[in-house]
Amino acid sequence: MEVIKEIEKIRHLVEKKRAEGAKIGLVPTMGAIHEGHVSLIKLACEMTDYVVVSVFVNPTQFGPGEDFKKYPRNPEKDMRTIDSAGAHCIFSPEISEMYPGEYSTYITVEELTKGLCGRSRPEHFRGVTTVVTKLFNIVDPHIAVFGQKDAQQLAVIRKMVDDLNMTVKIVTGSIVRAQDGLALSSRNMYLSGEERKQATVLYRSLCMASEMAASGVTEPEEILGKVREVITGQDAAKIDYIEIVDKDRMTPVTKISDSSLLAVAVWFGKTRLIDNIILNGKNG
Ligand code: AMP
Repeated sequence: MEVIKEIEKIRHLVEKKRAEGAKIGLVPTMGAIHEGHVSLIKLACEMTDYVVVSVFVNPTQFGPGEDFKKYPRNPEKDMRTIDSAGAHCIFSPEISEMYPGEYSTYITVEELTKGLCGRSRPEHFRGVTTVVTKLFNIVDPHIAVFGQKDAQQLAVIRKMVDDLNMTVKIVTGSIVRAQDGLALSSRNMYLSGEERKQATVLYRSLCMASEMAASGVTEPEEILGKVREVITGQDAAKIDYIEIVDKDRMTPVTKISDSSLLAVAVWFGKTRLIDNIILNGKNG
């Protein structure tokens, strides 16, 4: 497996592979690789011939006071895990390579980014769509794989690709969870033992909501009220948002259907966790 830091080098390498007839897959990550990332890499390997995993802690998607500085970084371990997942190349540029001093261009998807995570992280999606566009332009993949774990990010990227007539195909990987149901996340390592235990309430509440929807409840407020009650039963939990939205538009629904997404963001101490489930529909 190759590890490349320069834009010109990765561009050259991928161009060569494409000229040889290889189908190119891209899996964008911020490193601190876990089994969730591994599942996306394996999916890319099944669908393409040459898989590039980008590892870049993107400063433009962190707001002031967020965890950019302390975000977990472990390049050696990441390299071993990405290699054994079957990827062919890691692209891990320095910040100065991606954002040289005179950098001044940003991509914004408007409506979809206003609610949910966009409300408490106003600059976040602008940073995501900018870096993802740059990665698409650098690697020019046939497909790019993103996790359902970040449901709003996925909807925003799909919208951007559609609106800007990008040719890359977006593929979704389902959420990988720990045995007790907590969605894997690089940020789980910030949790204390007690917070980690209490955080399992998220998946329990999503499953309860899913069962309510399956049993015929169609009123969003009825489900939201129960979910709120279960989550606030944990004293470390502070709700940022709990909403039922249309999974593509990210706007609140008035009646539950198979495109309704229950999305939650909850603080456990100083750590903000997100999770989601598609009610009445296919997850993954
Ligand atoms: P990150 O490194 O957190 O920026 O995530 C990189 C990619 O991995 C994104 O597409 C995420 O949605 C995806 N991802 C993160 N956690 C999980 C998980 N538990 N299961 C599946 N995919 C995930």
